[in-house]
Amino acid sequence: MKALVKSRAETGLWMEHVPVPEPGPRDVLIRVRKSAICGTDVHIWNWDEWAQKTIPVPMVVGHEFCGEIAEVGSAVSKFKIGERVSGEGHIVCGTCRNCRAGRGHLCRNTLGVGVNRPGSFAEYLCIPEANVVPIPDDVPDEIAAIFDPFGNAVHTALSFDLVGEDVLVTGAGPIGIIGAMVAKRSGARKVVITDINPTRLELARQCGIDHVVDVSREKLPDMMAQIGMKEGFDVGLEMSGAPPAFRSMIETMNNGGKIAILGIAPEGFGIDWNKVIFKMLTLKGIYGREIFETWYKMIAFVQGGLDLSPVITHRISIDDYKSGFEAMRSGQSGKVVMDWG
Ligand code: NAD
Ligand code: ZN
Repeated sequence: MKALVKSRAETGLWMEHVPVPEPGPRDVLIRVRKSAICGTDVHIWNWDEWAQKTIPVPMVVGHEFCGEIAEVGSAVSKFKIGERVSGEGHIVCGTCRNCRAGRGHLCRNTLGVGVNRPGSFAEYLCIPEANVVPIPDDVPDEIAAIFDPFGNAVHTALSFDLVGEDVLVTGAGPIGIIGAMVAKRSGARKVVITDINPTRLELARQCGIDHVVDVSREKLPDMMAQIGMKEGFDVGLEMSGAPPAFRSMIETMNNGGKIAILGIAPEGFGIDWNKVIFKMLTLKGIYGREIFETWYKMIAFVQGGLDLSPVITHRISIDDYKSGFEAMRSGQSGKVVMDWG
């Protein structure tokens, strides 16, 4: 089969022919229809420090996908050939304390599809039956293909009660924009999103976020005054991984505010902890999704009318993957979805 492989320890990914994976008794083989590019895949393409110490070479990468079941293992009972599915890219151990208590997202032994084991930039992907999620007919393929980052956004946004709250989202990347859309739909009063990239802020506007701030030119407190905010934000969603963004969030939170942190700061955020203490802030780290509870909510959001299609800016053939990665690396894109034909 064709697959995008990290086959050399250098910048890039290469389209190669590799064997179709063989499903074990409890595995499902999925024929991939659409693959989306994640920021993680860009790190792997760039072969940065994180990628060098994390990704064994060679490795078929990718973990955002939608497809249909092509084959099931002998012990698989829940799925049938031809069913349209996506799946959770975190494979948990099932035996640690958290897993046994039903909190798989807190598993200590998680393996990542397309990171620690072969991924979905391939004609066929093999994952455990337990990770497969059936996709209802009214959820389009391209939307199902971005459920992984959508899930990061939903997990982050739904960490705290949003009804009637004023919400700050730092970072208008695909996940920040979707997080802001989810916050609006979940009953927030004001939703403000910041970035330093005008293309991303314009995309946020096109996705229905009213209050966007280019913090490279404008001051966040000016926007807050302009929209009648007198005290501070009640909830913060950190989606940039940028230390100045997180510091400005802490600065503009109301006392007692709650912050969910998804963004990863390679060198750390370098915050003033005394501000966290004196403002009595609650900080919550977010990793991945709350697995199937988040998948449930995502499907419900889409079926309830949340339209994520404007977040997808590039729809291309898998053969044009280089241009897709170029768009992602330039910062001039939302989500890039590639079709396997
Ligand atoms: P992205 O890189 O596309 O978006 C980040 C955005 O932040 C960019 O548009 C960038 O211009 C903006 N930014 C930079 N400096 C800023 C500043 N000072 N103020 C405001 N915005 C600023 O990333 P993404 O794919 O949308 O993901 C968002 C973040 O979440 C990233 O840090 C990513 O590494 C992280 N992430 C974490 C998890 C997890 O499980 N914790 C999962 C996926 C992604
Ligand atoms: Zn576990």
